[in-house]
Amino acid sequence: MTLPGGSRYNGAAMPNHTHDTRLPAPARRTEGFTESVIREMTRLAHQFDAINLAQGFPDFPAPDALKEAAARAILADINQYAITWGAPALRAAIADKYAAFQRMAVDPEREITVCCGATEAMIAALLAVVNPGEEVVVFEPFYENYGPDTILSGATPRFVPLRPPHWEFDPEELARAFGPHTKAIVLNTPNNPTGKVFSRAELECIAALCQRWNALAVTDEIYEHILYDGAQHISIATLPGMRERTITISGASKTYAATGWRIGYCVAPPALASAIRKVHDFLTVGAPAPLQEAVATAMRFEADYYTELARAYQDRRDLLIGCLEAAGFRCSVPRGAYYVMADISALGFADDRECARWLVEHARVAAVPGSSFYHQADSGRHLVRFAFPKRPATLAEAGRRLASAAAARS
Ligand code: GLN
Repeated sequence: MTLPGGSRYNGAAMPNHTHDTRLPAPARRTEGFTESVIREMTRLAHQFDAINLAQGFPDFPAPDALKEAAARAILADINQYAITWGAPALRAAIADKYAAFQRMAVDPEREITVCCGATEAMIAALLAVVNPGEEVVVFEPFYENYGPDTILSGATPRFVPLRPPHWEFDPEELARAFGPHTKAIVLNTPNNPTGKVFSRAELECIAALCQRWNALAVTDEIYEHILYDGAQHISIATLPGMRERTITISGASKTYAATGWRIGYCVAPPALASAIRKVHDFLTVGAPAPLQEAVATAMRFEADYYTELARAYQDRRDLLIGCLEAAGFRCSVPRGAYYVMADISALGFADDRECARWLVEHARVAAVPGSSFYHQADSGRHLVRFAFPKRPATLAEAGRRLASAAAARS
Protein backbone atom coordinates (compact mmCIF):
# COMPACT_ATOMS: atom_id res chain seq x y z
CA MET A 1 0.00 0.00 0.00
CA THR A 2 1.10 3.55 -0.48
CA LEU A 3 3.24 4.61 2.39
CA PRO A 4 1.15 7.11 4.31
CA GLY A 5 2.27 10.60 3.53
CA GLY A 6 3.65 9.55 0.19
CA SER A 7 7.37 9.67 0.80
CA ARG A 8 9.62 6.79 1.77
CA TYR A 9 11.84 6.22 4.75
CA ASN A 10 14.91 5.29 2.89
CA GLY A 11 16.03 6.13 -0.60
CA ALA A 12 18.05 2.91 -0.59
CA ALA A 13 14.92 0.85 -0.06
CA MET A 14 13.18 -1.11 -2.80
CA PRO A 15 13.26 1.53 -5.55
CA ASN A 16 10.07 2.91 -7.08
CA HIS A 17 11.25 2.70 -10.70
CA THR A 18 9.62 5.08 -13.11
CA HIS A 19 8.05 3.12 -15.89
CA ASP A 20 9.56 3.46 -19.39
CA THR A 21 6.41 4.04 -21.47
CA ARG A 22 7.95 2.26 -24.48
CA LEU A 23 7.86 -0.99 -22.52
CA PRO A 24 4.93 -3.06 -21.23
CA ALA A 25 3.63 -1.62 -17.96
CA PRO A 26 3.26 -3.56 -14.71
CA ALA A 27 -0.32 -4.48 -13.83
CA ARG A 28 -2.57 -1.78 -12.44
CA ARG A 29 -3.37 -3.94 -9.44
CA THR A 30 0.17 -3.38 -8.17
CA GLU A 31 0.02 0.39 -8.47
CA GLY A 32 -1.17 1.00 -4.93
CA PHE A 33 1.47 -1.27 -3.44
CA THR A 34 4.73 -0.15 -2.00
CA GLU A 35 7.04 -2.36 -0.07
CA SER A 36 5.70 -3.48 3.30
CA VAL A 37 6.51 -0.84 5.91
CA ILE A 38 7.23 -3.60 8.43
CA ARG A 39 9.89 -5.15 6.26
CA GLU A 40 11.20 -1.74 5.28
CA MET A 41 11.73 -0.95 8.96
CA THR A 42 13.63 -4.21 9.28
CA ARG A 43 16.02 -3.03 6.60
CA LEU A 44 16.43 0.32 8.33
CA ALA A 45 17.15 -1.56 11.55
CA HIS A 46 20.07 -3.24 9.78
CA GLN A 47 21.25 0.03 8.30
CA PHE A 48 21.39 1.77 11.69
CA ASP A 49 22.41 -1.32 13.65
CA ALA A 50 19.20 -0.97 15.62
CA ILE A 51 17.33 -3.49 17.75
CA ASN A 52 14.49 -4.66 15.56
CA LEU A 53 11.24 -4.26 17.46
CA ALA A 54 9.53 -3.56 14.13
CA GLN A 55 9.03 -6.94 12.50
CA GLY A 56 7.47 -9.47 14.83
CA PHE A 57 9.83 -12.43 14.89
CA PRO A 58 11.56 -14.13 17.82
CA ASP A 59 15.26 -13.59 18.52
CA PHE A 60 15.29 -16.73 20.69
CA PRO A 61 15.62 -20.29 19.40
CA ALA A 62 12.82 -22.56 18.26
CA PRO A 63 12.28 -25.62 20.52
CA ASP A 64 14.97 -28.31 20.19
CA ALA A 65 12.35 -31.00 19.63
CA LEU A 66 11.06 -29.08 16.61
CA LYS A 67 14.51 -28.52 15.12
CA GLU A 68 15.53 -32.13 15.68
CA ALA A 69 12.37 -33.38 14.00
CA ALA A 70 13.15 -31.22 10.94
CA ALA A 71 16.72 -32.51 10.79
CA ARG A 72 15.47 -36.09 11.06
CA ALA A 73 12.95 -35.54 8.28
CA ILE A 74 15.57 -34.13 5.93
CA LEU A 75 18.00 -36.98 6.70
CA ALA A 76 15.17 -39.47 6.15
CA ASP A 77 14.83 -38.00 2.67
CA ILE A 78 11.48 -36.37 3.05
CA ASN A 79 12.68 -33.82 0.53
CA GLN A 80 10.22 -34.00 -2.35
CA TYR A 81 6.81 -32.41 -2.71
CA ALA A 82 4.33 -33.24 -0.01
CA ILE A 83 0.69 -33.68 -1.01
CA THR A 84 -0.37 -30.25 -2.23
CA TRP A 85 -2.83 -29.62 0.60
CA GLY A 86 -0.51 -30.93 3.29
CA ALA A 87 1.42 -33.95 4.56
CA PRO A 88 -0.97 -36.50 6.12
CA ALA A 89 0.91 -36.50 9.45
CA LEU A 90 0.56 -32.74 9.76
CA ARG A 91 -3.11 -32.67 8.79
CA ALA A 92 -3.82 -35.39 11.36
CA ALA A 93 -1.94 -33.42 14.04
CA ILE A 94 -3.83 -30.21 13.15
CA ALA A 95 -7.18 -32.01 13.41
CA ASP A 96 -6.22 -33.54 16.78
CA LYS A 97 -5.08 -30.17 18.11
CA TYR A 98 -8.34 -28.45 17.12
CA ALA A 99 -10.24 -31.25 18.85
CA ALA A 100 -8.15 -30.87 22.02
CA PHE A 101 -7.94 -27.06 22.26
CA GLN A 102 -11.13 -25.81 20.62
CA ARG A 103 -13.36 -28.90 20.82
CA MET A 104 -13.72 -28.48 17.10
CA ALA A 105 -14.14 -31.55 14.90
CA VAL A 106 -12.06 -31.13 11.74
CA ASP A 107 -11.84 -33.63 8.88
CA PRO A 108 -8.16 -33.81 7.92
CA GLU A 109 -9.03 -35.34 4.56
CA ARG A 110 -11.40 -32.65 3.35
CA GLU A 111 -11.10 -29.51 5.45
CA ILE A 112 -7.43 -28.67 5.99
CA THR A 113 -5.06 -26.93 3.58
CA VAL A 114 -1.44 -26.52 4.65
CA CYS A 115 0.05 -23.36 3.12
CA CYS A 116 3.30 -21.38 3.05
CA GLY A 117 2.53 -19.51 6.24
CA ALA A 118 -0.74 -18.01 7.43
CA THR A 119 0.04 -15.22 4.96
CA GLU A 120 -0.48 -17.54 2.01
CA ALA A 121 -3.50 -19.12 3.69
CA MET A 122 -5.16 -15.68 3.91
CA ILE A 123 -4.56 -14.67 0.29
CA ALA A 124 -5.43 -18.17 -0.98
CA ALA A 125 -8.66 -18.09 1.04
CA LEU A 126 -9.66 -14.65 -0.25
CA LEU A 127 -8.80 -15.53 -3.86
CA ALA A 128 -10.85 -18.70 -3.45
CA VAL A 129 -14.00 -17.07 -2.10
CA VAL A 130 -14.22 -13.43 -3.22
CA ASN A 131 -15.46 -12.31 -6.61
CA PRO A 132 -14.16 -8.96 -7.87
CA GLY A 133 -16.44 -6.19 -6.66
CA GLU A 134 -17.67 -8.03 -3.58
CA GLU A 135 -17.05 -6.38 -0.24
CA VAL A 136 -14.87 -7.57 2.61
CA VAL A 137 -15.18 -6.03 6.07
CA VAL A 138 -11.84 -5.38 7.78
CA PHE A 139 -11.33 -4.08 11.30
CA GLU A 140 -8.85 -1.26 11.51
CA PRO A 141 -6.06 -0.93 12.56
CA PHE A 142 -5.27 -4.07 10.58
CA TYR A 143 -2.22 -6.17 9.87
CA GLU A 144 -0.65 -4.60 6.79
CA ASN A 145 -1.10 -7.59 4.47
CA TYR A 146 -4.90 -7.52 4.60
CA GLY A 147 -4.89 -4.31 2.52
CA PRO A 148 -3.03 -5.80 -0.49
CA ASP A 149 -4.88 -9.11 0.06
CA THR A 150 -8.21 -7.42 -0.55
CA ILE A 151 -6.83 -5.58 -3.59
CA LEU A 152 -5.34 -8.76 -5.11
CA SER A 153 -8.60 -10.63 -4.65
CA GLY A 154 -10.55 -7.79 -6.26
CA ALA A 155 -12.51 -7.09 -3.09
CA THR A 156 -13.69 -3.70 -1.96
CA PRO A 157 -12.62 -3.30 1.68
CA ARG A 158 -15.07 -1.79 4.20
CA PHE A 159 -13.09 -0.63 7.21
CA VAL A 160 -14.54 -0.61 10.71
CA PRO A 161 -12.55 1.11 13.44
CA LEU A 162 -11.41 -0.51 16.67
CA ARG A 163 -11.06 2.38 19.10
CA PRO A 164 -8.47 2.75 21.85
CA PRO A 165 -7.96 2.31 24.73
CA HIS A 166 -9.74 -1.08 24.60
CA TRP A 167 -9.96 -1.31 20.83
CA GLU A 168 -13.70 -1.88 20.86
CA PHE A 169 -15.91 -1.58 17.80
CA ASP A 170 -19.29 0.09 17.67
CA PRO A 171 -21.82 -2.67 16.86
CA GLU A 172 -23.94 -0.25 14.86
CA GLU A 173 -20.99 0.88 12.81
CA LEU A 174 -20.14 -2.77 12.14
CA ALA A 175 -23.74 -3.48 11.15
CA ARG A 176 -23.62 -0.57 8.68
CA ALA A 177 -20.51 -2.07 7.03
CA PHE A 178 -22.41 -5.26 6.13
CA GLY A 179 -24.84 -5.41 3.23
CA PRO A 180 -25.94 -7.43 0.23
CA HIS A 181 -22.48 -7.18 -1.37
CA THR A 182 -20.58 -8.41 1.72
CA LYS A 183 -18.76 -11.66 1.04
CA ALA A 184 -16.61 -11.92 4.15
CA ILE A 185 -15.22 -10.30 7.24
CA VAL A 186 -11.52 -10.60 8.03
CA LEU A 187 -10.96 -11.12 11.71
CA ASN A 188 -7.68 -11.38 13.60
CA THR A 189 -7.82 -12.50 17.21
CA PRO A 190 -5.59 -12.20 19.24
CA ASN A 191 -5.03 -9.06 17.22
CA ASN A 192 -2.03 -7.60 15.49
CA PRO A 193 -1.30 -4.70 16.06
CA THR A 194 -3.62 -3.86 18.98
CA GLY A 195 -3.28 -6.89 21.28
CA LYS A 196 -7.07 -7.09 21.47
CA VAL A 197 -8.61 -10.50 22.17
CA PHE A 198 -12.17 -10.55 20.85
CA SER A 199 -14.69 -11.50 23.55
CA ARG A 200 -17.46 -14.04 23.11
CA ALA A 201 -20.06 -11.24 23.03
CA GLU A 202 -18.14 -9.43 20.27
CA LEU A 203 -17.77 -12.62 18.27
CA GLU A 204 -21.50 -13.30 18.67
CA CYS A 205 -22.25 -9.86 17.26
CA ILE A 206 -19.99 -10.56 14.26
CA ALA A 207 -21.48 -14.04 13.83
CA ALA A 208 -25.03 -12.67 13.78
CA LEU A 209 -24.11 -10.24 10.99
CA CYS A 210 -22.36 -12.99 9.00
CA GLN A 211 -25.51 -15.10 9.22
CA ARG A 212 -27.87 -12.23 8.47
CA TRP A 213 -25.96 -11.26 5.31
CA ASN A 214 -24.79 -14.75 4.34
CA ALA A 215 -21.15 -13.75 4.70
CA LEU A 216 -18.05 -15.73 5.64
CA ALA A 217 -15.71 -15.14 8.56
CA VAL A 218 -12.04 -15.45 7.58
CA THR A 219 -10.21 -15.51 10.89
CA ASP A 220 -6.47 -15.24 11.35
CA GLU A 221 -5.68 -16.89 14.71
CA ILE A 222 -1.91 -17.12 14.39
CA TYR A 223 -1.45 -15.73 17.95
CA GLU A 224 -3.98 -18.17 19.47
CA HIS A 225 -1.63 -19.30 22.27
CA ILE A 226 -0.14 -15.91 23.15
CA LEU A 227 -2.61 -14.66 25.76
CA TYR A 228 -2.21 -12.59 28.94
CA ASP A 229 -3.97 -11.93 32.22
CA GLY A 230 -6.31 -14.90 31.84
CA ALA A 231 -7.61 -13.88 28.40
CA GLN A 232 -9.32 -16.75 26.53
CA HIS A 233 -9.01 -17.33 22.82
CA ILE A 234 -12.30 -18.23 21.16
CA SER A 235 -12.44 -19.43 17.55
CA ILE A 236 -15.49 -17.89 15.88
CA ALA A 237 -15.95 -21.23 14.06
CA THR A 238 -17.04 -22.75 17.39
CA LEU A 239 -20.03 -20.40 17.72
CA PRO A 240 -23.44 -21.80 16.71
CA GLY A 241 -24.04 -21.58 12.97
CA MET A 242 -20.49 -20.44 12.19
CA ARG A 243 -18.51 -23.60 11.46
CA GLU A 244 -19.98 -23.85 7.94
CA ARG A 245 -19.21 -20.22 7.16
CA THR A 246 -15.76 -19.81 8.71
CA ILE A 247 -12.23 -20.17 7.37
CA THR A 248 -9.90 -20.51 10.35
CA ILE A 249 -6.25 -19.70 9.71
CA SER A 250 -3.24 -20.37 11.91
CA GLY A 251 0.29 -21.72 11.68
CA ALA A 252 3.56 -22.64 13.30
CA SER A 253 5.38 -19.30 13.06
CA LYS A 254 4.40 -17.70 16.34
CA THR A 255 3.52 -20.73 18.46
CA TYR A 256 6.79 -22.55 17.77
CA ALA A 257 9.07 -19.55 17.11
CA ALA A 258 9.65 -20.60 13.50
CA THR A 259 8.55 -17.62 11.39
CA GLY A 260 11.04 -18.46 8.62
CA TRP A 261 9.67 -21.94 8.04
CA ARG A 262 6.49 -20.67 6.42
CA ILE A 263 4.16 -23.38 7.67
CA GLY A 264 0.58 -22.22 8.03
CA TYR A 265 -2.80 -23.78 7.44
CA CYS A 266 -6.47 -23.14 7.16
CA VAL A 267 -9.57 -25.08 8.12
CA ALA A 268 -12.67 -24.61 5.99
CA PRO A 269 -15.82 -26.55 5.19
CA PRO A 270 -15.16 -29.03 2.34
CA ALA A 271 -16.60 -27.01 -0.56
CA LEU A 272 -14.55 -23.95 0.38
CA ALA A 273 -11.48 -26.04 1.22
CA SER A 274 -11.61 -27.59 -2.21
CA ALA A 275 -11.49 -24.12 -3.84
CA ILE A 276 -8.71 -22.99 -1.47
CA ARG A 277 -6.69 -26.12 -2.26
CA LYS A 278 -6.83 -25.36 -5.97
CA VAL A 279 -5.70 -21.76 -5.50
CA HIS A 280 -2.96 -22.89 -3.12
CA ASP A 281 -1.77 -25.52 -5.61
CA PHE A 282 -1.42 -22.97 -8.39
CA LEU A 283 0.21 -20.38 -6.13
CA THR A 284 2.87 -22.50 -4.46
CA VAL A 285 2.23 -26.26 -5.03
CA GLY A 286 2.94 -26.86 -1.39
CA ALA A 287 4.70 -25.96 1.83
CA PRO A 288 8.17 -27.38 2.64
CA ALA A 289 7.79 -31.15 3.11
CA PRO A 290 10.34 -31.88 5.87
CA LEU A 291 9.21 -28.87 7.88
CA GLN A 292 5.63 -30.09 7.73
CA GLU A 293 6.77 -33.36 9.34
CA ALA A 294 8.54 -31.41 12.07
CA VAL A 295 5.55 -29.19 12.79
CA ALA A 296 3.40 -32.33 13.06
CA THR A 297 5.66 -33.33 15.98
CA ALA A 298 5.41 -29.92 17.63
CA MET A 299 1.63 -29.86 17.38
CA ARG A 300 1.61 -32.82 19.76
CA PHE A 301 3.57 -30.97 22.49
CA GLU A 302 1.99 -31.28 25.94
CA ALA A 303 -0.33 -28.54 27.22
CA ASP A 304 2.38 -27.12 29.52
CA TYR A 305 4.36 -26.01 26.44
CA TYR A 306 1.59 -23.52 25.68
CA THR A 307 1.21 -22.41 29.29
CA GLU A 308 4.92 -21.66 29.47
CA LEU A 309 4.83 -19.90 26.09
CA ALA A 310 2.14 -17.47 27.31
CA ARG A 311 3.88 -16.95 30.66
CA ALA A 312 7.22 -16.10 29.04
CA TYR A 313 5.49 -13.69 26.66
CA GLN A 314 3.74 -11.98 29.55
CA ASP A 315 7.14 -11.31 31.16
CA ARG A 316 8.42 -9.87 27.89
CA ARG A 317 5.31 -7.70 27.55
CA ASP A 318 5.69 -6.31 31.06
CA LEU A 319 9.40 -5.64 30.57
CA LEU A 320 8.85 -3.74 27.33
CA ILE A 321 5.91 -1.74 28.63
CA GLY A 322 7.99 -0.68 31.65
CA CYS A 323 10.75 0.57 29.32
CA LEU A 324 8.34 2.38 27.01
CA GLU A 325 6.43 4.11 29.79
CA ALA A 326 9.73 5.22 31.35
CA ALA A 327 10.68 6.78 28.01
CA GLY A 328 7.40 8.75 27.83
CA PHE A 329 5.24 6.50 25.62
CA ARG A 330 1.68 5.78 26.72
CA CYS A 331 0.98 2.13 26.09
CA SER A 332 -2.19 0.25 25.48
CA VAL A 333 -1.61 -3.02 27.31
CA PRO A 334 -2.13 -6.01 24.99
CA ARG A 335 -4.21 -8.98 26.15
CA GLY A 336 -2.77 -11.20 23.46
CA ALA A 337 -0.31 -11.39 20.52
CA TYR A 338 3.13 -9.82 20.87
CA TYR A 339 2.86 -6.14 19.98
CA VAL A 340 2.35 -2.92 21.90
CA MET A 341 0.65 0.07 20.33
CA ALA A 342 2.28 3.08 21.97
CA ASP A 343 0.83 6.58 21.93
CA ILE A 344 3.49 9.17 21.07
CA SER A 345 1.35 12.28 21.61
CA ALA A 346 3.34 13.39 24.66
CA LEU A 347 6.70 13.13 22.89
CA GLY A 348 6.51 16.14 20.60
CA PHE A 349 7.00 14.49 17.20
CA ALA A 350 5.21 15.78 14.11
CA ASP A 351 3.82 12.32 13.44
CA ASP A 352 4.43 8.58 13.69
CA ARG A 353 6.80 8.52 10.72
CA GLU A 354 9.04 11.18 12.18
CA CYS A 355 9.00 9.30 15.49
CA ALA A 356 9.85 5.94 13.89
CA ARG A 357 12.64 7.58 11.92
CA TRP A 358 14.05 9.21 15.05
CA LEU A 359 13.77 5.96 17.01
CA VAL A 360 15.72 3.91 14.49
CA GLU A 361 18.36 6.55 13.88
CA HIS A 362 18.93 8.03 17.32
CA ALA A 363 17.67 5.46 19.82
CA ARG A 364 18.66 2.62 17.48
CA VAL A 365 15.41 0.83 18.21
CA ALA A 366 13.17 0.05 15.23
CA ALA A 367 9.37 0.25 15.51
CA VAL A 368 6.56 0.48 12.95
CA PRO A 369 4.74 3.78 12.34
CA GLY A 370 1.12 3.38 13.38
CA SER A 371 -0.25 4.78 10.13
CA SER A 372 0.79 1.64 8.26
CA PHE A 373 -2.06 -0.19 10.00
CA TYR A 374 -4.73 2.25 8.76
CA HIS A 375 -6.11 2.96 5.32
CA GLN A 376 -5.97 6.67 6.06
CA ALA A 377 -2.62 7.68 7.46
CA ASP A 378 -4.04 10.31 9.77
CA SER A 379 -5.76 7.76 11.98
CA GLY A 380 -2.43 6.27 13.07
CA ARG A 381 -0.20 9.33 13.20
CA HIS A 382 -0.07 9.34 17.02
CA LEU A 383 0.91 5.65 17.29
CA VAL A 384 3.92 3.42 16.82
CA ARG A 385 3.98 -0.36 17.19
CA PHE A 386 6.69 -2.23 19.09
CA ALA A 387 7.06 -6.03 18.85
CA PHE A 388 8.36 -7.95 21.85
CA PRO A 389 9.10 -11.57 20.83
CA LYS A 390 12.63 -10.99 22.12
CA ARG A 391 14.98 -12.23 24.83
CA PRO A 392 14.78 -10.25 28.09
CA ALA A 393 18.35 -9.02 27.47
CA THR A 394 17.31 -7.61 24.07
CA LEU A 395 14.30 -5.82 25.55
CA ALA A 396 16.37 -4.45 28.44
CA GLU A 397 18.97 -3.11 26.01
CA ALA A 398 16.18 -1.53 23.93
CA GLY A 399 14.95 0.08 27.16
CA ARG A 400 18.41 1.50 27.91
CA ARG A 401 18.70 2.93 24.42
CA LEU A 402 15.24 4.48 24.58
CA ALA A 403 15.96 6.04 27.96
CA SER A 404 19.25 7.58 26.93
CA ALA A 405 17.95 8.84 23.59
CA ALA A 406 14.90 10.34 25.30
CA ALA A 407 17.15 12.06 27.85
CA ALA A 408 19.41 13.45 25.11
CA ARG A 409 16.41 14.79 23.23
CA SER A 410 14.77 16.61 26.13
N1 GLN B 1 3.42 -10.66 11.51
C1 GLN B 1 4.70 -10.02 11.72
C2 GLN B 1 4.50 -8.54 12.00
O1 GLN B 1 3.40 -8.04 11.98
C3 GLN B 1 5.62 -10.23 10.57
C4 GLN B 1 5.20 -9.49 9.38
C5 GLN B 1 5.92 -9.89 8.16
O2 GLN B 1 7.00 -9.43 7.91
N2 GLN B 1 5.34 -10.76 7.42
O3 GLN B 1 5.47 -7.88 12.28
